[in-house]
Amino acid sequence: MQNFLRSTRNKLLEIFFPEICFGCEKTGKMLCEECEETIKNNKRKKTNLENISWVYSGLNYQNHILQKIFYAFKYSHTKSLSKYLAKLVEKDFVDFLKKVLEESGSEYKNLIFIPIPISKKRKIERDYNQSEILLEEIIKIIKEKDGLNLQTQSSLDFLLKTKHTIKFASTHSRDEREKLIKNVFSINPKYSKEFTKDKIFILLDDITTTGTTFYEARKNLMDFGIPKNNIYAYALAH
Ligand SMILES: [Zn+2]
Repeated sequence: MQNFLRSTRNKLLEIFFPEICFGCEKTGKMLCEECEETIKNNKRKKTNLENISWVYSGLNYQNHILQKIFYAFKYSHTKSLSKYLAKLVEKDFVDFLKKVLEESGSEYKNLIFIPIPISKKRKIERDYNQSEILLEEIIKIIKEKDGLNLQTQSSLDFLLKTKHTIKFASTHSRDEREKLIKNVFSINPKYSKEFTKDKIFILLDDITTTGTTFYEARKNLMDFGIPKNNIYAYALAH
């Protein structure tokens, strides 16, 4: 009954408040095909992630339309934007996975996806973990488009966020970020070392600026005994 009410309410909302493109304000979708292409083609010339061989990113966060979408996704509870964001990186993400497998000599079945966790407090505030939702959407699209089923390979509770951190501001320097994020993660004690055998871990986050969060998360995995070369990271935008 609740689902019925929700879908009826959503249909009514669509009629009275049709979706408008975040880029060009055209009615129809939250992101039209043209604006989607603009974001995808808006590559960054030089980035400070270039020298970090295990961190990859899909989209250019300097793109203004993308910034608007991410802002709404994170702070206005517009959960439905996740499917647009996932669609934007699907191809890039599949290419990234191919690279990872080529480099590690591993297979798809050994991949374990770990979304960067958020604290319980933040989850209550926001009602969802954006990295988790994005990962689910990307996996769904990959299954539809590429026929690759990665659905059972995410481990949503392997990495836990045990300390609440304040939101990073763009004014924080790299040193400040490192201090803020130090020791905020831990590995869920329910997992044994056996679980990690031969596995390739892919950390996933929505946005990375300096890679600090990825470094801290990777440190936890390495302390648990996972070899450095078995850990990769992907951010939707940088
Ligand atoms: Zn548009």
